[in-house]
Amino acid sequence: MADFNSIENQEMAIQLLKNALKSHKISHAYMITGEARSGKSALADAFAKSLLCESGTGSACNNCKSCHQAETHNHPDIIYITPEKPGYIAVDDIRDKINASITIKPYQGKYKVYIIPHSEWMSEGAQNALLKTMEEPPEYAVILLLTDNEEHFLPTIMSRVVTIPLVPVAYEKKIEDIDFIELKEKILPYITAERDTELIAVEGIIAEVAKDKVLSLKALEIILLYYRDVLIYKSTGDEGPVLLKKELYDIRKKADRVSYEGINNIIKEIEISRRRIEMSVKAEYVLDDLFIKIKENDK
Ligand SMILES: [Zn+2]
Repeated sequence: MADFNSIENQEMAIQLLKNALKSHKISHAYMITGEARSGKSALADAFAKSLLCESGTGSACNNCKSCHQAETHNHPDIIYITPEKPGYIAVDDIRDKINASITIKPYQGKYKVYIIPHSEWMSEGAQNALLKTMEEPPEYAVILLLTDNEEHFLPTIMSRVVTIPLVPVAYEKKIEDIDFIELKEKILPYITAERDTELIAVEGIIAEVAKDKVLSLKALEIILLYYRDVLIYKSTGDEGPVLLKKELYDIRKKADRVSYEGINNIIKEIEISRRRIEMSVKAEYVLDDLFIKIKENDK
């Protein structure tokens, strides 16, 4: 089982969870999103282990009984939801494995942690069943939804989770790429412009980018990276993990101004836009919609 320090490239996500642990402000539901092999399970495991560690310090000591049990996947208060049928989490899976047991207090720790890998496999019925529990969770309950596709979820689920986005595996290398830098310098002024007159100047560039699907997807990656940096700076006050170092000044300003809710909404909208472009919706429409959503939330 993983430890926070054995997870690579996910500094922001780790900081968010560590801060929650340190401040004892644990939400009842998190959604850890990211592509395959980005470290979703490892992160969920490390978080669960830290929550339940007997040291009570908010980080796993790796010596107590609870840490050992977590390590070997034998902890009675960490429950993994594996579906009866692969590819499909049915309403009964949620009723039997979560709803029926969540009201029973934790056996030994302060928390009871439910981990749902591939939570996008939940049917609508399963999601509605889970929603009932999420609406009034017992104080010790923590539900971790892991997914590579947020689009499968009901808006009512999305509004009740704290989203922890993971960065794609190869980001740190990508940002040194010259094409990436060029595109970044074209796109980011659109996000950072403070006056409408400044916006007009970049609109032509956006229209040009939108003609090309691949370029549009890259532009979305850049915008996502930018708001992830804003989020990490806002939640940690630390510039160390910020990836877009050149934009640090602006990222700081943005972090002061925009609410957590606003940033989370924008990150969700970027993910939705990416899927729409991948499904061959015209990039021009998608980007237009996205920039409207960004404007609504970026204040
Ligand atoms: Zn421990």
